[in-house]
Amino acid sequence: MSKKYDLVVVGGGPAGLMAARVAGENGLSTALLERKSDITKVRRVDGGGLVPLNEYMCGETFTFNPEAKRIGFPVSGFSIRYDGPYQDMYGFRFYAPDGTFFSFGDHHQLRKDPEKNRVGIAIDKELMLQGLLEDVEATGVDIFPGTNVTGIEKKANSVTVTGNGNPFEATFVIAADGINSRIARLMGMNKERKFIGTLVDRVWHLEGIEIPDVAGISFLFNMYGFFFVTTVCHKNQYHLGASTYHPGDDLEANLNRIVYEDKVFSPWFKGAQKIGETACVVNLLSPMGEPFKDNVLFVGDAAWLMELSNPFAIMCGWKAAHAVTLALLDGKINKGGIASYQEWWMKKFYEPYGSAEFKPIHLQDFLSADDIGYLAGLIKEPFAPTMNFYKMLDTIGNTYGGLFPVIQEERPDVMDKLMGIVNQMDEIEAKARKAGFSNR
Ligand SMILES: Cc1cc2nc3c(=O)[nH]c(=O)nc-3n(C[C@H](O)[C@H](O)[C@H](O)COP(=O)(O)OP(=O)(O)OC[C@H]3O[C@@H](n4cnc5c(N)ncnc54)[C@H](O)[C@@H]3O)c2cc1C
Repeated sequence: MSKKYDLVVVGGGPAGLMAARVAGENGLSTALLERKSDITKVRRVDGGGLVPLNEYMCGETFTFNPEAKRIGFPVSGFSIRYDGPYQDMYGFRFYAPDGTFFSFGDHHQLRKDPEKNRVGIAIDKELMLQGLLEDVEATGVDIFPGTNVTGIEKKANSVTVTGNGNPFEATFVIAADGINSRIARLMGMNKERKFIGTLVDRVWHLEGIEIPDVAGISFLFNMYGFFFVTTVCHKNQYHLGASTYHPGDDLEANLNRIVYEDKVFSPWFKGAQKIGETACVVNLLSPMGEPFKDNVLFVGDAAWLMELSNPFAIMCGWKAAHAVTLALLDGKINKGGIASYQEWWMKKFYEPYGSAEFKPIHLQDFLSADDIGYLAGLIKEPFAPTMNFYKMLDTIGNTYGGLFPVIQEERPDVMDKLMGIVNQMDEIEAKARKAGFSNR
């Protein structure tokens, strides 16, 4: 007869490792099952940006103390170890095809006092996961690397997860198996979620480049594709990513074009060497309003639309494992037992951000290079520095909303196209859905 655990955690990413650490610290008998044999190896796209630092998002703000080698979560009230390289981040930047740009934060000025001004840092995610894994190991959690979970079954008072053909029985399960969660699919959690489309990213890790005054995440709009350039933890290195909601697009060709041929942007990459590459395919399903069913709690990306991000996934693991601890202590092996997690999820994530409609738009399908350059040039001064995605999106939406009279006056043709985008939203969504792979 195999052992019955208090908790089985599926997935050893940031959310799952943190859940396993807290469960171990709280004395729960816990198993951690992870598909990868090397748990801390990062194979999927991830810039390692720890954001937002020193500003609020989803009710939390992060701190970083290089002397103490700790990343803090002061609202939630815990910290994690981080002893590795880092680089400061000051905000986002948006480039039109002709190189016209607007920024969040005047990066040149802000760099003069990094400790005070940074709103994010880029860290080495593998080292962060390594620190978490060592903490999990120290708590006596049973760790099963190389274990692919393929089944889950609810019994009277427990749940049995099947990994590599072996049963793992527990009172509760935390599903931290990331975006495109198999557990969510097996348990029918995706049936009620809206399928929005499939996002494909391909990223080159580049060394030997210095992009003047860019420290954060830059988005590059081009007529042949959409790109992002991300500051990473090592100086003179960047991630250059190509991104699409049309999975048939040839992203490798687009990356070659921007690096070697583009008149405006290829000078950035002169002398660059490719030192690695990653990719990801993300099926976009609207976030879960209730991330719980049959004693299984969904945390991190498994319950979200796209990327909840590393620090917020860690927060979810922390909160979920504490909720399970209290449910066991109170003898409430049901939804009522983990109510603190459900309320927290609703208040911090779902209500403020989860219910918003996400639109898979490619601007270059509607606007010319000249139109995009004109719109970018309307923003004359940098916005306040931020690495908070939601704040960035709100600021852009409100600013261009306020500029509509100017655009109508100066460029009625552009205004017509913008209105066209608004009116064609249903067709845009239908096209992205048709191009994607719903796999629900
Ligand atoms: C393009 C891109 C860039 C990003 N950049 C950043 C960034 O700069 N900063 C940031 O904070 N976040 C970034 N993210 C988001 C970040 O990667 C995720 O939000 C974060 O990793 C979520 O953590 P998680 O633990 O929920 O899931 P994951 O990190 O996905 O972990 C899930 C784990 O479950 C395992 N697993 C999956 N299925 C099974 C199974 N059947 N059996 C066993 N194990 C399984 C996986 O192997 C994996 O280890 C980025 C995401 C994308 C798409």
